[in-house]
Amino acid sequence: MMLGPAIELGLPATVLATDPAESAAAVAGEVRIGRHDDEQAVRGLAEAVDAVTFDHEHVPAAILEALEAEGVAVRPGPAALVHAQDKLVMRERLSALGHPCPRWWRITSAEELVDALAQAGGRLVVKTPRGGYDGHGVRVISDPAEVADWAAEHDELLAEELVPFVRELSAQVARRPDGEAVAYPVVQSLQKDGVCYEVVAPAPGLDEAAQERIQSLALAIAEDLGVVGMLAVELFETADGTVSVNELAMRPHNTGHWSMDGAVTGQFEQHLRAVADLPLGATTPLAPVAVMVNLLGGEATDLVPGMRAALALEPALKVHLYGKGVRPGRKIGHVTLLGEDAEDLLARAHRAETLIIHGVKEQR
Ligand code: ADP
Repeated sequence: MMLGPAIELGLPATVLATDPAESAAAVAGEVRIGRHDDEQAVRGLAEAVDAVTFDHEHVPAAILEALEAEGVAVRPGPAALVHAQDKLVMRERLSALGHPCPRWWRITSAEELVDALAQAGGRLVVKTPRGGYDGHGVRVISDPAEVADWAAEHDELLAEELVPFVRELSAQVARRPDGEAVAYPVVQSLQKDGVCYEVVAPAPGLDEAAQERIQSLALAIAEDLGVVGMLAVELFETADGTVSVNELAMRPHNTGHWSMDGAVTGQFEQHLRAVADLPLGATTPLAPVAVMVNLLGGEATDLVPGMRAALALEPALKVHLYGKGVRPGRKIGHVTLLGEDAEDLLARAHRAETLIIHGVKEQR
């Protein structure tokens, strides 16, 4: 999704992909095949480009540190990126900086887990510090035995209080190497089985003061950590209106997809502008409300008939299909609608979603 804006901006992009069949490799002009954790492969890419960036956070820090030390522009740099790679490092740093986090514990032994469970009132959210995504690597437990397998595999685990949130919010900002930064409207996100499912921008009912407070928090985190590119700060909002940080992503993020169609500058373009050190774009929304609904793999393996029906029903619908094979629950695309009324837009976006993922008989 970065390649469209790269073409528009005239920025030649080279993609490093593990497999030629990966979505980005299938559409990029320049592709190198290699693994993101293979130093030679990453090095080969770095030699061919002016700046290196990512669409996931799993490139090992040691590789990026070596490249940065040799003068390669790695954006975001490894010192920032580690806070999106390792949830324990993130918790420690954000807490030290005084940014709001749920209560958390570093778990290095069975005794520490028992202690933390007692302190948290008998329930904890336990997370593997690295490699988790879409809810893999997150378990709610009331007994240490429920994470015995992780305790055996990992030296350290992160435990957090189970936050009684009323909803999840997400704040996106972008930052250039010199510190210039912009913020998008704070959005509301809904997860289904640990996977982002639905986003409403801006978050309904969040007053201007709260919007500004949360945007300032995200901008402060970007500045404190020295982020370059897009930063998504995922947050929990509790009944009294306070927020705490759940996790960070330093790349265009699912909760920012609405901006591709719903803001003057979409997050993929913005990420490239930040990474290429170009002036940042306006984040102004194009409508009072934007809704984004993820397409998670359903019954249909051919998405075209359902998409045809959805487009016929909703001429204003924006459809993004990722060119991935369909598997149940897999993120295969998203749809966006702009308008005035979040409930109405969500109902219509979900109708389109159902048509696309479950399919309809071919209609012309
Ligand atoms: P991932 O890296 O898989 O996205 P997260 O840390 O974002 O994992 O957790 C996935 C989901 O689990 C969150 O979106 C939230 O719904 C729930 N969750 C995570 N941590 C907590 C917590 N401390 N309290 C309550 N719910 C949580």
